[in-house]
Amino acid sequence: MSAADDELASLLKRAADHAIAYRQHVAEPEATRAYGEVLPGFDAPLPQQGEPADAVIDALVASAVPGLRATTGPRFFGWVIGASHPVGVAADWLTSAWGQNAGNHTASPAAAAAETVAARWLLELFDLPRESSVGFVTGATLANVVCLAAARGAVLRRVGWDADADGLFGAPPIEVVIGEEGHSTVYSALQYLGLGNKRVRRVASDEQGRMNADAFAATLAQCRGPVIAIAQAGHVNTGVFDPLAQLVPVAKAHGAWLHVDGAFGLWARTSPATAALAAGIDGADSWACDGHKWLQTPYDCGYAIVRDAEAHRAAMTIAASYLPPVAAGERDPSHFVPELSRRARGFATWAMIRHLGRAGIAAMVERHCALARRLARRLATESGVHVLNDVELNQLIVRFGEPEAGEGGDRLTRETIVCIQSDGTCFAGGASWRGRWVMRLSVIGFPMDEAEMDRSADAIHAAWRAVHHANA
Ligand SMILES: *Cc1c(COP(=O)(O)O)cnc(C)c1O
Repeated sequence: MSAADDELASLLKRAADHAIAYRQHVAEPEATRAYGEVLPGFDAPLPQQGEPADAVIDALVASAVPGLRATTGPRFFGWVIGASHPVGVAADWLTSAWGQNAGNHTASPAAAAAETVAARWLLELFDLPRESSVGFVTGATLANVVCLAAARGAVLRRVGWDADADGLFGAPPIEVVIGEEGHSTVYSALQYLGLGNKRVRRVASDEQGRMNADAFAATLAQCRGPVIAIAQAGHVNTGVFDPLAQLVPVAKAHGAWLHVDGAFGLWARTSPATAALAAGIDGADSWACDGHKWLQTPYDCGYAIVRDAEAHRAAMTIAASYLPPVAAGERDPSHFVPELSRRARGFATWAMIRHLGRAGIAAMVERHCALARRLARRLATESGVHVLNDVELNQLIVRFGEPEAGEGGDRLTRETIVCIQSDGTCFAGGASWRGRWVMRLSVIGFPMDEAEMDRSADAIHAAWRAVHHANA
């Protein structure tokens, strides 16, 4: 080995040792320092001279570790965050080491091939139309953007307008119909695409957050001209699904493009125990999903899936003389995403699906749903702790003190969240749900198990008791 080889080997092994040491301790209660406390560890005047590689990596670890959230640990319930499975991490390390640009076939034949196969596997796992195209994007936010861009082009093309070439100025107006519980990133996508995040028709939902199918039909009946309808599979607070089997025929009858935000809920399709929740979803026109949530790939990884592959391509195509042409029947990875140069996300997706297999993915989804129900049961044994949702999937919302809307319950719930976060046994955040502040718990990390649920429930009970006592 040359001296350069030795240096490379010693540097990458050093990074691996740091990573292993971190992951071995991540199950311990966290004492994560806040941004303001970790900033000085990174802060310095612009370096004028370089430093040796191993010193830089050691300094990075020393600065970063105190401010790392235990999202890969077994008791992290914040937002909806997968736990970066070791197999995904290993594949992702190689992705970085290989330094491939996934932008086209020639720049990385292997990256393009892994995406082609991973795309096919995803369509089979979700049982979506096999002719659909899949773009590998950063997450469901961008998947929503890509899918809705395809929708925008397609619905306007049907009325004789080429939005990709001529933009939206002077175009026939598009009506956008969305459930009132749509995710905030869908509104961002509408904003980015010039469709407007206020200029929408909102459809009422039930007390759990499912879109009302009759109200959806009545709203579509009022629409004139091209329509994009947006439904949801997996509400970020309650985990519920819009009634897709009822929405799909209504959207079809109106010639509307139906997009489904299934960032984590689409994975319910992989298990017979939960597939019925998303019945009918394969009748939609496009779907947004994440790899970095339930599939446990490292950040970042999402999928934009579109039934009409031509509409998908038309919305995203990049053409330049120096980009090689694609042979007939081959899939060019850049035809389905906005980026040209980008990370080869197909490798981690391919590796995770191959590692878990269909059965392993289904078992994980089932296990998380069972753990969520266990956590809900355990939490509800303490008086003053109210689980507000029907736990159909993996999400819980919990309120402390008063279940009903009111400042008292809001305050007690906020204080309990502060208390649990400072305790560090487990992490949960808050949200506003139908006028009430709630604690949100997402059961989605692969290391979670029954003992960790019970330990977390005990910690939440203790936090609530402390808050209750202080307020008595
Ligand atoms: C997480 C989530 C998103 C956004 O996905 P990112 O991966 O954060 O970009 C959109 N919709 C729903 C329902 C989600 O849960």
